Amino acid sequence: DQGLSKTKESVFSKIARVVAGKSKVDDDVLDDLEEVLITSDVGVDTTLKIIERIENRVSKDKYVNTKELNAILREEIASLLIENKASDAAFDLPQRDTPYVIMVVGVNGVGKTTTIGKIAAKFKAAGKSVYLGAADTFRAAAVEQLEIWGERVGVPVIKQKMGSDPASVAFDTLSSAVANHADVVIIDTAGRLHNKINLMNELTKIKNVMKKIIPDAPSEVLLVLDGSTGQNAFEQAKQFTLATEVNSLAITKLDGTAKGGVVIGISDQFQIPVKYIGLGEGIDDLQVFNKEEFVDSLFG
Ligand code: GDP
Repeated sequence: DQGLSKTKESVFSKIARVVAGKSKVDDDVLDDLEEVLITSDVGVDTTLKIIERIENRVSKDKYVNTKELNAILREEIASLLIENKASDAAFDLPQRDTPYVIMVVGVNGVGKTTTIGKIAAKFKAAGKSVYLGAADTFRAAAVEQLEIWGERVGVPVIKQKMGSDPASVAFDTLSSAVANHADVVIIDTAGRLHNKINLMNELTKIKNVMKKIIPDAPSEVLLVLDGSTGQNAFEQAKQFTLATEVNSLAITKLDGTAKGGVVIGISDQFQIPVKYIGLGEGIDDLQVFNKEEFVDSLFG
């Protein structure tokens, strides 16, 4: 997979260095491997889990080369992801009479608008009708960007004037979507983490107002994280999961980075399904996350 090639090359070459000149998986190899995983942004807790599994598995006198260690690592990471039920996220919409509402949260700049545009395109291609709501009313650029994506994809964007109440935009969007029998509504929100209480209140207010139209809305709260920021993405996941109930993740910008390990660590530590991964700026550069394919593209 071209999209993840930077991570793959980086992990491969680091592992090659770990085993160079070694003939056994000894403590030195395990220490070095631990460092490889940590510097690949897998995160400390998840790295320790993986190392422990490898330790339990390889007998100390086992001859090892890059290929073998890669295979072992692949299997252990695959089983870690596969055991994690939280990483099963289906793209198919459940059967329902009212629109499926996806509320999208995340810090500015992580690729929220782009991801919304790409998701809208995927649903449209699957024959669904989609409405977008520009509830990030604090940045003119955010509304403009969403409108550009709306035009590109060919879906309506509901907006109000700058500075208006985000909850009111969400209300309007759901009203229009219900009136027009839309299948999916995607609501963009403002991502200001510096004021946590405000963020929490604002997200709660948007949710409550949406429930007036669709009692079980939002169907899904999708957190967008920039994979290329490594540990910052972990920190943002922590902050947003404290501010609101997050039930799916999109991890973006995995194309230009060697930090693809964040997907493994975040999925393991937060037990929230990774639903999408972003692999470029284009409309088609979003994949519905598949853990088997992900592991294959890193170690295959
Ligand atoms: P927002 O502020 O969170 O809404 O972020 P935007 O959607 O405006 O994206 C910020 C920048 O990141 C833009 O230049 C996007 O083209 C870029 N971007 C978004 N997703 C990806 C991705 O998966 N890969 C790459 N390389 N760039 C991305």
